[in-house]
Amino acid sequence: MEFKRLKAILEKHNLWAKKSLGQHFLHDESICHQMVRHISLKEQTVVEIGPGPGSLTDILLKTEPAFLLLIEKDQRFIEILKEFECPNNTEFKIEQADALNVCISELLANHGKSEPYHIVANLPYNVGTELLVRWIKDIGHIASITVMLQKEVVDRMIAKAGTKDYGRLSIIMQSCFDVQEVFQISPEAFIPPPKVWSSVAYLKPHAKQPEPIVLRALERLTNIAFSQRRKMLRASLGKILPLTLWQNLCATLEIDETKRPEEIDTATFLGMAQICSKEKI
Ligand code: SAM
Repeated sequence: MEFKRLKAILEKHNLWAKKSLGQHFLHDESICHQMVRHISLKEQTVVEIGPGPGSLTDILLKTEPAFLLLIEKDQRFIEILKEFECPNNTEFKIEQADALNVCISELLANHGKSEPYHIVANLPYNVGTELLVRWIKDIGHIASITVMLQKEVVDRMIAKAGTKDYGRLSIIMQSCFDVQEVFQISPEAFIPPPKVWSSVAYLKPHAKQPEPIVLRALERLTNIAFSQRRKMLRASLGKILPLTLWQNLCATLEIDETKRPEEIDTATFLGMAQICSKEKI
């Protein structure tokens, strides 16, 4: 949506950006196009979180998805969104809801949709990471996720072992998805401009997913290891896990226990979680 059109919509409806809802509205149409260029959404089921005044919605409708579901918490935008023109072969629904409290596949099932869905969103930055982690529970239904977030969060999602950004988020997201950064966006692309640069990430679920019990073990292990990031593994995990299990992990996965957690790659953490889950740790 062009700057002038977006400003006109905001002024006409007397709307202002609410900081508490992480509202920064995109006014650069070319960025919205760029956000969907790498995926084919035609005839697909698509979910947009936080459409706001609809800059991205406008472009999503032009891709002619079979079904577009919008989930927006702020009541003020619902009537505006209802006025959007919809292509003939697209079904378009709006839910006023807190995305943190809904299961997307259940919402879609209520509309008779059971196909894998694509999420596309300029996420509210205050809850963006939390939403991504929650969506892992629904991963079996997800075809892809394309999200705009603070650049710093995307840096952490894609970071590799041995780098300063590598941590829990990198390990958990990379265990479940192939994660790529698509492009970066400067603050001027938004009304009001945020304080930081943003980035678009594209996440494609791995064909083989870790079992839920393995994921839970991974969350616990990474929590212990990275809450004491500067400590050697033997002083963090080695102190908390039963000695025989720790020795088994180190021997089986060839872990040097004098290393720090940021030096251990995602595959090794996942290997640890697989072994620990069998021990119900
Ligand atoms: N999509 C619009 C755009 O790109 O211009 C707005 C993006 S703005 C960064 C985030 C949007 O998410 C806002 O419309 C806000 O009201 C909405 N939002 C914030 N928290 C939400 C939540 N918990 N559930 C659903 N929507 C939420």
